[in-house]
Amino acid sequence: MSASTATATTATAEAAERRARTDAAPADYVGRFAPSPTGPLHLGSLVAAVGSFVDARSRGGRWLLRMEDLDTARVVPGCAAHMLRTLEAFGLQWDGSIEYQSQRIGHYAEALQALNARGLTFPCSCSRRERLGDGGYPGTCREGARRAGPTATRFRVDDEKIVSFQDRAQGTCTFRLRERGDVIVRRRDGAFAYQLAVVVDDALQGISDVVRGVDLLDSTPWQLALQEALALPTPRYAHLPLIVEPDGAKLAKSGRSVPLDPQAAAPLLHRALSLLRQDPPAELELEAAPTVLAWACAHWRPERLHGVRKAHAPRNNPRSPN
Ligand SMILES: [Zn+2]
Repeated sequence: MSASTATATTATAEAAERRARTDAAPADYVGRFAPSPTGPLHLGSLVAAVGSFVDARSRGGRWLLRMEDLDTARVVPGCAAHMLRTLEAFGLQWDGSIEYQSQRIGHYAEALQALNARGLTFPCSCSRRERLGDGGYPGTCREGARRAGPTATRFRVDDEKIVSFQDRAQGTCTFRLRERGDVIVRRRDGAFAYQLAVVVDDALQGISDVVRGVDLLDSTPWQLALQEALALPTPRYAHLPLIVEPDGAKLAKSGRSVPLDPQAAAPLLHRALSLLRQDPPAELELEAAPTVLAWACAHWRPERLHGVRKAHAPRNNPRSPN
């Protein structure tokens, strides 16, 4: 991206941010945090949780919690309960009851039926190996599954369509749907896929603002296309920087991806806010977790994240005080 494009994008994002701030009356803001209970929360998940929490609370909005537990083979028993205790210890108190996707299958089945009825789906027999390639799914089974046996269900994207949206953090994002390919909405094992479930849940929970990691930016065009096909509203999006190792690599099983220590809640919240470029004062680390969050809500400057895709985790890890 050239420097001038980057500037233009940032300016547009700032305009969108101002618009978003004035458009959303506090009571209209509904945010959410939607972790998968497949492993404990770590620094990367804390950054996403804090970003969405503070964005919601700084506008007097609600903050909902959803467990994305559809991938039953990967769900770790006891993990969801452990996450809830961790969020509470960090002062990240959610509103209302927690939604578990595993208990919402009926809603996803209805949505799939609606897509089927509109002729927007097709069965796909391709194996993971056959799907490998540079681009998205090449449309292999559009005219019929290639072989007998269990099939996944794909949503047929409009090849001609270009999806463009204003991300509050990443500016103007434009995708050609053909390059993303036809997306799986029901897996071969019968489980509903994340892309369908998230669209249905965001709509049914009345989510106005999705604030999440930039690793999901590539999924957003599919989600917008599914919202349109299902006549569901589109929330505003803000994609937060991905937390990476000091050398820029994906956050590995190092000290920076260990489970969050509730004894170090305040220093870890402080660290999350630093990674979100909020420049929290150093002495805040010594306060209690709710005080750190209250400071963050009073001083939240989401515009500092414009165009930021990566944040480098520091080398050392905050220790518990004793
Ligand atoms: Zn196929």
